[in-house]
Amino acid sequence: MDETPPLTQAPARKALGQHFLFDPDILRRMAMAAGDPAGRAVIEVGPGPGGLTRALLEAGAQPLIVVEADPRFAEALRTWPEAASGRLVVIEGDARKVDLVAALAEADAAVPAMIVANLPYNVGTPLLVDWLKAAGWRGEMALMFQKEVAQRICAAPGESHYGRLAVLSQAVCACHIAFTLPPGAFRPPPKVDSAVAVLRPLAPEDRFEDLQTLETVSAAAFGQRRKMLRAALKSLAKQRGIAAEDWLEAAGIEPTARAETVDQAGFRRLAKALVSLGG
Ligand code: SAM
Repeated sequence: MDETPPLTQAPARKALGQHFLFDPDILRRMAMAAGDPAGRAVIEVGPGPGGLTRALLEAGAQPLIVVEADPRFAEALRTWPEAASGRLVVIEGDARKVDLVAALAEADAAVPAMIVANLPYNVGTPLLVDWLKAAGWRGEMALMFQKEVAQRICAAPGESHYGRLAVLSQAVCACHIAFTLPPGAFRPPPKVDSAVAVLRPLAPEDRFEDLQTLETVSAAAFGQRRKMLRAALKSLAKQRGIAAEDWLEAAGIEPTARAETVDQAGFRRLAKALVSLGG
């Protein structure tokens, strides 16, 4: 095992959502949460001082591509022996702007790649939405979020956290919460609990590929979640030149239903009916 010391003394930068994990047991659990990374290409966003990076390398990730916005950490990670050998690829920059497909190709990585990350809270959700839409290259994901976001990803109809993120995530992945951590597990501690959401790609025949339409429909439906769907969807229907009642009927959804009771299959029917009726 390489004993490269992590940058434990570096002061955390709040604006970059820096809350670090150092407990080896937690890091090992996190590295394995989406499945065994041995021999798999893995992407980690926000390696920070490298605790999870080390756990992923020890678990056999190959190559491991890390994207870090803080130059202090990127610089330190480049000194690791695995970086010299090319097994660890360190990209310094904003993960929202990095072309991961190009990075995987450049590293000659076998896809689909796993994504394992303790995500910075301010960019976690937009990154997830991009990854859900990714075709072909994205495999299993184990992502640490603030607990409420993990609950929103994994929620079922009728649960208080059920909304757009659950509909989108579950259109392409099977989702569950692997474990929850209290603020005290991190340095410095965040204000809220955190949780690891595991998202495993559904079989191709079970996936719903038109995430763009699903996103538009679920945004409209949950934008006014207390309203009945015939009212909540009225303005989107009008934009597409159709009546909300006709659209709901074509999708087999009661016009008096509310978004929070419509399941994944119902949202897929709504998206398909919108495309076939309203273009
Ligand atoms: N993985 C480390 C751990 O578990 O101890 C650090 C996790 S910390 C919650 C989030 C990390 O993401 C920080 O190192 C931070 O600098 C980095 N970060 C923040 N915004 C980023 C962005 N837009 N792109 C890439 N990295 C980012």
